[in-house]
Amino acid sequence: MTKKNVVVSDTKAGMEITVPVSDSSLFPTAVQKPPSSGGYMTISRKKRLQNLDINGGGTERINTWVDSMRASSPTHYKSNSSVAQDHLNSWMVRHPSALDMFDQITKASKGKPIVMFLDYDGTLSPIVNDPDRAVMSDAMRETVRKLARYFPTAIVTGRCRDKVYNFVRLPELYYAGSHGMDIMGPSKGSQYEKTVNESVLCQPACAFLPMIDEVYNVLLEKTRSTPGAMVENNKFCLSVHFRCVEEKKWSELAQKVRSVLKDYPELKLAQGRKVLEIRPTIKWDKGKALEFLVESLGYTNFDDVFPVYIGDDRTDEDAFKVLRERGQGLGILVSKIPKETNASYSLQEPSEVMKFLQKLVEWKQVPLRRQFRMKRQIEGIKIIPTPSDQICLS
Ligand SMILES: [Mg+2]
Repeated sequence: MTKKNVVVSDTKAGMEITVPVSDSSLFPTAVQKPPSSGGYMTISRKKRLQNLDINGGGTERINTWVDSMRASSPTHYKSNSSVAQDHLNSWMVRHPSALDMFDQITKASKGKPIVMFLDYDGTLSPIVNDPDRAVMSDAMRETVRKLARYFPTAIVTGRCRDKVYNFVRLPELYYAGSHGMDIMGPSKGSQYEKTVNESVLCQPACAFLPMIDEVYNVLLEKTRSTPGAMVENNKFCLSVHFRCVEEKKWSELAQKVRSVLKDYPELKLAQGRKVLEIRPTIKWDKGKALEFLVESLGYTNFDDVFPVYIGDDRTDEDAFKVLRERGQGLGILVSKIPKETNASYSLQEPSEVMKFLQKLVEWKQVPLRRQFRMKRQIEGIKIIPTPSDQICLS
């Protein structure tokens, strides 16, 4: 039995416990097991070839990635053509604006507690050329802070958890970094931390850390000669950013990345918005992280809760898919252009995400304000000792 490195931290006891878990659910095949401690696992040549085929696919596969990256860029979408406009219109019918459909969305929750899941880049912050400068506006931070007062809120990102925490700086949130492979609960100040295991920490890819660090250094060296290429170490996964690389160099850079991965069949490649992601081949993604967090909040039955997930990238599709397949909650894709998605609704950009979150806060505040006013009125009823013993509101 392979021991999966799920670490459950118990801050009350001041300790962390490593829970051995059967490999059956996380590691579907021998080739996808993490390396054992102290060295990397060996795999048969046949299995290595199978995995290379998954990660590989030759020049055709590289071209597909590059074409897909170009197509998913709003600057390449010719929205002025009538065909493109028709395409956008029909897409919007299938994925209407979450702002326009706000009443339907809140009605769909049917009084169940709403739990919010928010991607970071392109959702709470605009996409920028330098990933280290993807700061969140003060207005967005204030909106998310208010949101978390009324709804359990998690940031789910491909970034390193510590890095995204430094951008968001709200200790009352849940953070799931490295595509959900690094999950931590609110550190303080959350009303939810008393009702759930606030110190919950899930790191199913711990055994891959030495390999990720090694590949990070190899990729730094390999991509050094490509102007604009950036390699980001997200702790349990890596990102190779293409957004500052000339488009004519994209194929060459993708080829370099793939050539490095040939020596690491335990890692897989995925494509995002002008980025290639390198991740361990374990069955864990943003969808699994969503399920883990919902359960951690005490909702063992998805029927009792209404998760709302907002994200802009391919990796968010894993979470959208979970919600669609379960028929619970809903996904909202942030995109200005039509994309194949499992999300139900859409928002165009982070400014619209902020408006949607503000509406959610207002929607929650209205009945609470009404209750507060009624309570004040009831408390304010005093018997005024008048000759007629009138009952008056003070
Ligand atoms: Mg994103």
